[in-house]
Amino acid sequence: MSVITIERKVLEKNDELARQNRTLFASRNIFSINIVSSPGAGKTSLVEKTLEQLKGKLNVAVVEGDVQTDFDAQRVAKYGVPVVQIVTNGGCHLEAKLVQDALQNLDLTNIQLLVIENVGNLVCPANYDLGEEMKVVVASTTEGDDKPLKYPGMFRNASVLIINKTDLLPYLPCKIDELKRNALSINPSLIIFETSCTTGYGVAEWCTWLTGKVFQHKGTK
Ligand code: MG
Ligand code: ZN
Repeated sequence: MSVITIERKVLEKNDELARQNRTLFASRNIFSINIVSSPGAGKTSLVEKTLEQLKGKLNVAVVEGDVQTDFDAQRVAKYGVPVVQIVTNGGCHLEAKLVQDALQNLDLTNIQLLVIENVGNLVCPANYDLGEEMKVVVASTTEGDDKPLKYPGMFRNASVLIINKTDLLPYLPCKIDELKRNALSINPSLIIFETSCTTGYGVAEWCTWLTGKVFQHKGTK
């Protein structure tokens, strides 16, 4: 019983801080996404391809979350956007407080889109609201088509599914239609994109949709 209580208190505290982050984003008219996946699915590659595509169209800032190292922030910095790295030192998910602290080190002037790349983990990031507008879950074809059934919480809480590494499909047992079916059985309102961050396939379609969302969001303010 005590374990459940502690967990709930942690999540309640997190939700309060997430609300503060959400208020900050709203006051600055920033659209924010929280990218989640298991390690190695291609989150950082997707961020890189997205930055490439959105260059000159949207002002983007990035928060990178990793258990250790600032390798991903270094990769993102090459695109000339404001980026800050959160190192969780073993922590397996980002929390709203960590994002709040990271934002202190980020110049948000004129930023329209904030991309938060979570720690690679399909379990607890599902439960930690960071104040984002939506969660984007990346599933790679190398992980098989049953991922959504094994980690339903993440697929239920996400708004978008990006199926990455489609270029590898000929070499894998993964059936993309089965993967989509499984994902939609968990969450029928998931919006699905197929990408290969190696070849660039599908990235434009995702970025066009995302840009539309950012402007649509601005329009409602
Ligand atoms: Mg990464
Ligand atoms: Zn965790």
